[in-house]
Amino acid sequence: MADTSLLKFVDREQVYPAKREPELRAEDFREIAERYPVPDAEAQAGRCSQCGVPYCSVHCPLHNHIPDWLRLTAEGRLREAYELSNATSTMPEICGRICPQDRLCEGNCVIEFSGHGAVTIGAVEKFITDTAWEEGWVEPLVPGRSRGQSVGVIGAGPAGLSAAEYLRGNGYDVHVYDRYDRAGGLLTYGIPGFKLEKPIVTRRVERLKAGGIVFHENFEVGRDASMDELRQRHDAILIATGVYRARAIKAPGVDANGVVDALAFLTASNRKGFGDAVPSFDDGSLNAAGKHVVVIGGGDTAMDCVRTAIRQDAASVKCLYRRDRANMPGSQREVANAEEEGVEFVWLSAPESFAGEGAVSTVKANAMRLGAPDASGRRAPEIDPEGGFELNADLVIKALGFDAEDLPTLFGAPELNVTRWGTVLVDNKTLMTSLDGVFAAGDIVRGASLVVWAIRDGRDVAANMHRYLKTKAAADMAASKQ
Ligand code: FAD
Ligand code: SF4
Ligand code: SF4
Repeated sequence: MADTSLLKFVDREQVYPAKREPELRAEDFREIAERYPVPDAEAQAGRCSQCGVPYCSVHCPLHNHIPDWLRLTAEGRLREAYELSNATSTMPEICGRICPQDRLCEGNCVIEFSGHGAVTIGAVEKFITDTAWEEGWVEPLVPGRSRGQSVGVIGAGPAGLSAAEYLRGNGYDVHVYDRYDRAGGLLTYGIPGFKLEKPIVTRRVERLKAGGIVFHENFEVGRDASMDELRQRHDAILIATGVYRARAIKAPGVDANGVVDALAFLTASNRKGFGDAVPSFDDGSLNAAGKHVVVIGGGDTAMDCVRTAIRQDAASVKCLYRRDRANMPGSQREVANAEEEGVEFVWLSAPESFAGEGAVSTVKANAMRLGAPDASGRRAPEIDPEGGFELNADLVIKALGFDAEDLPTLFGAPELNVTRWGTVLVDNKTLMTSLDGVFAAGDIVRGASLVVWAIRDGRDVAANMHRYLKTKAAADMAASKQ
């Protein structure tokens, strides 16, 4: 029987959920997009052409069953759509909000290529699971039959939380250790509320706690326990610590007061949002209010910094990036959002030095131009000797990306093998590190990446840890019989 609710992409326009007006959204840290009303979600899902080979799913790191849950949504079968969406993802409503869909599922939707505008997959995914939470369809985490084995997860970011959920579901005692006072990793303290409101993360964490996963907050591995001690406590360990060493700028004056790291700035802002006392914000050091702000970098972190500074009521916000708009790593959607909110992008520019009496007051910048392609194939930026300019700046935020910390030293585990970038080396098949029973996942393996990849890695590593633990239990049983 022909389905009349689908294949509507020719006569039904692509419509994203409405965004709040820039002036209004710059006043607060609430998400900028409204939610679809039910008929709009169903109508937009109905634009899908139900491809035989769905490139959207192929390019989704979780290989979500996108056409199937779009069809169910279009047919008004929302609960089934939720169940299917939930089957491949531990956090669909989070991915629906913050995945760079233009580079993943939506960027590969065939309708996009045919000139009709992609199906709005992310917004529908968010709608489905937000509805499920409201309707009470999100079920508690039910632990599997106890296996009498325990797992220690270091890091409560999306990789650690996803692995913890699957492992608990398989009957393991799961302990999650995190050096912060709240779980969530960068979902909690990195990504600002205007992209991901914090109660969305908190309700996920609360569900895991209610399912019996034990969280040890303010527990820093390396300070509060060594890797050896943790290995003695647990049958297997997962390292999911993310990457936190900020890349430095080599320029005179970079150590001046008022030149700060992006994550310190964003964490302070997120903590204020939770109502925490944040002395470095209250004394003005990490607060953009009334200041001329210059953010250096062109990735997602830089976009989050400029838009946070706008919301803190900065006098002006400029973003310096050494390549042009077409060659920036950050999402074009985020650039558009930032421009709407009043951020000025100074493309093809890089800081040469920072100057000021006691604190930074000026950034001297070089104009850049794009030269020959480098080893990665991207055209390398080089100084344009014709250019150069100065900008007023009371706050400079360095957002040049992150590298791995020195985990073998921090953990007191010199036998832990790392790559030349400091990321943890794992066996591609088992996802185990050079230490028996110690696995790794997420940014600490890939380098700075995406939430959806961290969730995928958490899912994969949990399956491998399950296999390892079953073999270990069988070997222990056999040994005890001898
Ligand atoms: P993390 O989320 O970093 O979590 C690691 C956890 O380990 C942290 O909680 C940390 O406290 C803990 N930890 C570290 N060391 C120790 C230790 N020694 N002992 C105990 N605990 C420890 N991705 C997107 O997909 N979309 C976005 O819009 C987006 N925006 C971003 C914005 C910013 C500002 C940043 C920095 C990143 C953004 N990302 C985004 C990337 C994304 O957040 C990461 O790829 C993802 O969070 C990685 O997950 P993870 O679990 O590997 O690590
Ligand atoms: Fe798209 Fe991300 Fe959802 Fe996959 S998880 S369907 S890439 S929004
Ligand atoms: Fe539907 Fe686009 Fe995926 Fe095809 S590629 S199944 S049209 S969402």
